[in-house]
Amino acid sequence: MSQNVERESMEVDVLFVGAGPATLASALHLMNRIEAHNARVDREGGDPIEPPTVLVIEKGAAVGDHMLSGAVMNPKALAELVPNFADEGFPTEYICDNDMTYVFTKKRAFRLPANLPPFKKRGYHIVSLSNIAKWLAERCEAAGVEIYPGFAGDKLLTEGNRVVGVRTGDMGVDKNGSPKSTFQPGMDIYAKVTVLGEGVRGTLSKALISQFGLEGEQPQVYETGIKEIWKIKPEKHRPGRVIHGMIPHELIHHFGGMWLYDMQGDLISYGMVTALDAESPHNDPHLVSQKFKTHPWMRELLDGAELVRYGAKTIPIGGMYSMPKLYVDGAMLVGDSAGFCNGEKLAGIHMAMKSGMMAADTIVDGLVAKDFGTTTLGSYQERYRQSWAWKEHRKARNFHGSWAKGLPFFFLNEPVRMITGGRGLLDPVPFEAGHEATRRLAELPESKRERESFEFDGKLTFTKEHLVGFSGAQHETDQPSHLVVADTDLCRDVCAEEYGNPCESFCPAAVYEMVPDEEHPGKKKLFIHHENCVHCKTCDIADPYQVITWTPPEGGEGPDYTQM
Ligand code: SF4
Repeated sequence: MSQNVERESMEVDVLFVGAGPATLASALHLMNRIEAHNARVDREGGDPIEPPTVLVIEKGAAVGDHMLSGAVMNPKALAELVPNFADEGFPTEYICDNDMTYVFTKKRAFRLPANLPPFKKRGYHIVSLSNIAKWLAERCEAAGVEIYPGFAGDKLLTEGNRVVGVRTGDMGVDKNGSPKSTFQPGMDIYAKVTVLGEGVRGTLSKALISQFGLEGEQPQVYETGIKEIWKIKPEKHRPGRVIHGMIPHELIHHFGGMWLYDMQGDLISYGMVTALDAESPHNDPHLVSQKFKTHPWMRELLDGAELVRYGAKTIPIGGMYSMPKLYVDGAMLVGDSAGFCNGEKLAGIHMAMKSGMMAADTIVDGLVAKDFGTTTLGSYQERYRQSWAWKEHRKARNFHGSWAKGLPFFFLNEPVRMITGGRGLLDPVPFEAGHEATRRLAELPESKRERESFEFDGKLTFTKEHLVGFSGAQHETDQPSHLVVADTDLCRDVCAEEYGNPCESFCPAAVYEMVPDEEHPGKKKLFIHHENCVHCKTCDIADPYQVITWTPPEGGEGPDYTQM
C-alpha cells in the first residue's frame, strides 16, 4: 500500500509483538515486579515506578490461535513467574510419570531399558501451548496489560539506530494492492521499548537481525515439526505417558524423530520433527510424518482412532552459537525469535518464558533509569549469561553441530560431549544454514533425484490438502499473497532444473504448486495457494535461493490451533 496514507498512531511505554509464552510471561513478570517494587516503597520509602502502559499485539484472531508445540513443559520458569501456578488453574493436562525412548526399526519397536537423558520428562507438565497462552493472557489483562489480537506487526519503525515502535499491517487491500471498501491503514505504535517475540523466523525479528547485524556466530538452523491430535480408543489411553522415538533411516533420510503423549479426552498428540538442513531438496516433513503412521506400532495405536487437528511449526535448533545479539537501542528479542530453545531436549517453552522474564527485569531497570538505550538493555544479555537458561544452552551447544557433521563424527563426539559439559572434540562444531546444505539434483546419486511417491490411504495417512482442513487455516483470497516470491521466473527456468522445485515438498500445507505454463509450453509456473498457509515459516527458511519471504497476512487470519 501507499506510504502516503494517513495513519493513526499511538504511544505506549512497552510494546510486545506476539502473544506467546515469552512475551506474555514478560508482560506479567514486568507488572509483578513493578507492583512488588511499589509495595516495598510504600513500606520502606524510596521512589515508586509509575505503572507503564503495556501493549501486546498478536496476529492471530485470538490469543493462542497461532500457538503450536509439542508441549511437555519443564515447569522451572513458570514456578519462578507464578509460584502457586497449580492453585491458579494452570491448564495442565497431565504430569508426566512415564517417560520412555523407543527405537523403531522398519517393522518393530524397542523400548530402551533406560530413558535417554535428553528425554527425561518425569514431573514435566503435559500442556496445550494454546491454553498456556490464554491462561497467561488472562493474568496479564488482570494486571493491567492491554492485548490487541488481530494486529500483525508489519514493519519496524526506526529513527537512526533506534527502534521506536512498530507499524501494524493494513487491512482490506485487494489482490492487486488496491484498497477495498473495508480498507483500514495499519497503525503506528510508538514505544519506549519494543520486545519482539513473534515466534520462529518472525518478520520483524528477521528484519531487526539483518538491519542491525545481530547474527550469531553460527547460522540458525531449524526443524519442521508436524503435529496431529487424534482421539484414540479409551483402552489405549495412558495418562502421563511421554514417548520420544528414533525412527528408521529408510523413513527420514536425515535428522529427526517422533514424540507422542496423551491429553485429556482420550486424545493423543503425535508429532514428527524433520531437520531442514537435509541434502535432498525433496525433504518433506509432512511425508515423513505420514509414512511413520504406517509403522505397525503406530497402526496398532491408531486403530479405531479419529484425526482431530493438524498443524506445523518450525523450531530453532542451532543453540547458543546461533543466537543473535539480543538487544539494540529500543528493542529486545525473546523466545523462539531469539533462538531460546534447547534443540537437544526438543524443549523451548521454559526457555522462552525465562527469556521474557529476563527482558522484563531489564525493562524495570529502564523504567527506573528512564533509559532504553543499549547500555540499559545490554544487561538483558548479561542476565542471560548468568541464568540457568545459559547453562542449559551451553550444555547443548554442540549437539546440532555434532549431528550435522555426519554419523561417524556424531558417535565419536557424543560420549566426549557428555563428559566435557557439552564441549566435545570441537567447540564450536561448524555447520551450514539449512538452505546451504541442500544439494542440487545433479549432485545427488541418480537413485535420489526423483521425488518419492506415496499412496495416502485417507484413513491413517492423508494428503497435505486434506490435512489443511484440520488446521483451521483461513485467509481472505482477495488480498496480496503474504508469501512473496521475489523472482517466479527463477522457479520455472532455474529451480525446476536445479532442485526440482523443493517448495512443493517442504511446505506441509500444499501452498506451492507448479502448474502448466501456457505462455511457456512444456514448462511449469508457480501458483501460490496462500489461503492454505499454516504459518510454519518453513518456506522462508528452506528455499535454496532465499527468494521466498513470509510476511504477515491480514491480522486475524491463519490457522486455529486452539487445544494444540
Ligand atoms: Fe509453511 Fe510457507 Fe507453507 Fe505457509 S507457505 S505453510 S509458512 S511452508
